[in-house]
Amino acid sequence: MPDDAAPPPFTADDFAARQQRALREALDAGLDGVLVTPGPDLVWLTGYQPTAITERLTLLALTPDRPATLLVPRLERGDAESAAGAPALAFADWSDGDDPYAASSGLLRPGGRYGVSDSAWALHLLGLQRAVAGSSYVGLTEGLPMLRAVKGDDELARLAAAGAAADRAYEEIVGVRFAGRRETEVAADLADLLRRFGHEQVDFTVVGSGPNGANPHHEAGSRVIEEGDLVVLDFGGLRYGYGSDTTRTVSVGEPSARQQEVHDVVRAAQQAGVDAVRPGVACQEIDRAARAVIEEAGYGPQFLHRTGHGIGVTTHEPPYMVEGEQQPLVPGMCFSVEPGIYLAGELGVRIEDIVTVTDDGVRRLNSTDHGLRVVG
Ligand code: ZN
Ligand code: ZN
Ligand code: ZN
Repeated sequence: MPDDAAPPPFTADDFAARQQRALREALDAGLDGVLVTPGPDLVWLTGYQPTAITERLTLLALTPDRPATLLVPRLERGDAESAAGAPALAFADWSDGDDPYAASSGLLRPGGRYGVSDSAWALHLLGLQRAVAGSSYVGLTEGLPMLRAVKGDDELARLAAAGAAADRAYEEIVGVRFAGRRETEVAADLADLLRRFGHEQVDFTVVGSGPNGANPHHEAGSRVIEEGDLVVLDFGGLRYGYGSDTTRTVSVGEPSARQQEVHDVVRAAQQAGVDAVRPGVACQEIDRAARAVIEEAGYGPQFLHRTGHGIGVTTHEPPYMVEGEQQPLVPGMCFSVEPGIYLAGELGVRIEDIVTVTDDGVRRLNSTDHGLRVVG
C-alpha cells in the first residue's frame, strides 16, 4: 500500500471472522463465551465505539448458542446499528429504568465462565455476577492472550502506515527550533505534524528535555529547552485506527562525550533487542537482550522499565517484552523495542521502534536513523 493511499475499510465479514475466531479460541480455552464492553476489544470485534463510554451497559456477547449479539442502551441503538460490523450482529436493547443486567442474563448461562474485556467497568462485572447465578469471569488478556496480539496483513498495513507517518513527523521536527522554546511548544508542533501526516488521533507527544528526560513518564512541561540538552521525543497516535509509537533522542547543539556515550549504549541495546526478535523466542528474551547491553555498560539500574509493549488498535497493549513473560513470539505480532537510560537530575535517552515478527525474523515499522541527531 503506498503511504498515502487509505486502506479499504474493514467489512462486516472481517468483523464476523474476528468474532468467530474469538469464540472458537474461548471455547478451546474451556470458556463459555466472550463478553465485551466498549473499548479496544469492541472496536476490534465490531468497529463500534460509542460516542461516550458511560455507566450505561453496552455488551457484546459471543456465545455458541446464538448469533453474536450486541446489547445496547435503546437511545444508542441507532448509532450502534450504523457501525461497520453491524450487519454481522444481532441487536438487543434496554431502556432507562430497566435492569440492564437482567436484560443481559438472557444471553448468558447460569454457572457459565466467560472471558471479559480487561477494561470492563467493575460496576458492570458486579452487575453480571449478581444477575447470572454462579457465573465467573476471566480477563481476556489472561484467558485469550493471542486474540489481538497477532495481526493480520490488513492490520499490519495500517500499522506500517502509522509508523511511516510518525517517521515523517520526526524528519520534520528535527528541523524546528528547540533552544529557547518550551517543551509544550515542541510537543504542540509534534502533534500538528502527526495530524498533518495522517493521524486521526494523537495519543502522546513526550518532550523530555535535560533533566526531565530522566523521568520516563514525563510528558511535556513549561521547561525552556537549552543549548546542551538532550531531548527525548516519544510520540504516537492512531492512523486508520492503528497505532504509532516511536522515540528518538536529539541533542540541542553538539553532544558532550558523556551524552554521546549514553546514547551509543542505548542504541546498541535497541539493536540487540531488535536482533533477538524471531518466531518462537519468548517475549522476555527481547528484554534480556536489550538489558544485557545496558548492564554490561554499567547502567543496569538506570534502565527503569520493561523493553516493550504490543501495539494495535491501541498504542499500548499486550504482549509485553518483560522478564517473566514466556509467551513465544508469533509471526504477525507487533510491539515496541524501547530501552532507555535515565540519569536522575541529568538526562535521559530512549530509542524506540515498532517491529513486527516475520516468518523468519523481524521487520521494523520505523525507519528513521538511530544516530544522535543535532538540532538547533
Ligand atoms: Zn513511546
Ligand atoms: Zn512505547
Ligand atoms: Zn509508552
